[in-house]
Amino acid sequence: MGIFDYAPAPESRAIVDIKPSYELFIGGEFVPATGGAFKSVNPATGEALAEIGEASAQDVDRAVAAARRAYEEVWSRMPGTERAKYLFRIARIIQERARELAVLESIDNGKPIRETRDVDVPLVAAHFFHYAGWADKLEFAGYGPNPRALGVAAQVIPWNFPLLMLAWKIAPALACGNTVVLKPAETTPLTALLFAEICRQADLPAGVVNIVTGAGETGAALVAHPGVDKVAFTGSTAVGRQIARTVAGSDKKLTLELGGKAANIVFDDAPIDQAVEGIIDSIFFNQGQVCCAGSRLLVQESIQDELLDALRRRMGTLRLGDPLDKNTDIGAINSAEQLARITELTAAGEAEGAERWSPPCELPVNGFWFAPTIFTNVSATHRIAREEIFGPVLSVLTFRTPDEAIAKANNTPYGLSAGVWTEKGSRILSMAKRLRAGVVWANTFNKFDPTSPFGGYKESGYGREGGLHGLEAYLDV
Ligand code: NAD
Repeated sequence: MGIFDYAPAPESRAIVDIKPSYELFIGGEFVPATGGAFKSVNPATGEALAEIGEASAQDVDRAVAAARRAYEEVWSRMPGTERAKYLFRIARIIQERARELAVLESIDNGKPIRETRDVDVPLVAAHFFHYAGWADKLEFAGYGPNPRALGVAAQVIPWNFPLLMLAWKIAPALACGNTVVLKPAETTPLTALLFAEICRQADLPAGVVNIVTGAGETGAALVAHPGVDKVAFTGSTAVGRQIARTVAGSDKKLTLELGGKAANIVFDDAPIDQAVEGIIDSIFFNQGQVCCAGSRLLVQESIQDELLDALRRRMGTLRLGDPLDKNTDIGAINSAEQLARITELTAAGEAEGAERWSPPCELPVNGFWFAPTIFTNVSATHRIAREEIFGPVLSVLTFRTPDEAIAKANNTPYGLSAGVWTEKGSRILSMAKRLRAGVVWANTFNKFDPTSPFGGYKESGYGREGGLHGLEAYLDV
């Protein structure tokens, strides 16, 4: 422990105005939902924040019709230079309202303000800026001289990065000339609804962006709607499979960004302190609720003790608590269901014989919390080595040779990301070539950039988001 204690440093929530209830955003207006209502909960306290409208199949139908009208009458006819102006305007408003967005995201999701303020919201703005730049240059993107939009895009996103996933979906779709109907996750709808206000503030033509809130049923109605030309989904592999079945046999273009079980591989020549920071970032960022989290640490056997001692020491300094406190490293788990999933899988880890360790860590009484945890003595057959836990839980395995590291890293049905820690550049390149993962980070982890493509192999999905590659998903190529 450090010599000094930290005094509380809470960010004020006065900047956000959470209304008692929210409607759907269709055709540029907020309209009542006809499917009922549900509550969004503050995961740090368990208190209900607001009533959210549940979109029925008829509401989804109205939203798709509004998107179609906007596509045919306005957006597809507008030159790229004009579309770019709207995207630049949205990006600038996001920057102007960054604090409000960051505070609201922390309250609704449970992630620390340090992350929403320094990572999520700046990246959201960066994605809109990046794709604004592409809107009038599509003919230079390598997809032919006159690339055409697809039409109406149905977009379904998860709760772990509510605003960032919205940006990954909406920014390239609009830049390419599509209109969208987006469904945020049921536990984190508030920032998407604030984004709807931003669309109005930017004078975006009515119907170009529509937001329908609801749970799985609403999402299923949206992706199955016959008026949709493109489906983009980020979420679990199970739901991704279902969506692939729904879309099969239709003309709809589909991209899927699904789960992961990434290996973070540390060789004996890696700088230990730097690797420890990378491991902390790889599994405790956003409470480990990250599809590309480095949830399997593969450490070379000869440095296992030294590395794990340093990692345990560092974990002892992590501060868990109020997500709005600027000193908080680990916030709340997003929902009671997610907490139950993490609890069940970690209990299975112990039952299967792995050794569990957490630093001394007092959990708040209310809300949903899980202490940062590592498991050692993990074997490749344990559930905690195979299944995505989606929580602050690291499974440690060892290896002796690069070949063994590759075999173990690739021994997973997923393939979203991986990390390599070593001093040797040649080893980084040879490992990156052999790892079956969409993104390989070298001597760093969880770095995102709007210019860089992101996506998976195998059960982690197909298609790429981000950069030049991300345009392809929204163009008729
Ligand atoms: P989820 O699949 O349960 O839900 C994701 C979204 O799909 C939500 O909006 C949900 O309402 C909706 N949905 C649920 N059932 C549906 C159906 N039948 N048809 C259409 N939509 C439906 O996943 P989750 O628990 O919200 O998110 C966690 C998962 O998402 C993890 O497995 C994680 O790895 C994955 N994820 C992947 C990425 C990526 O980029 N690859 C990013 C974030 C999260």
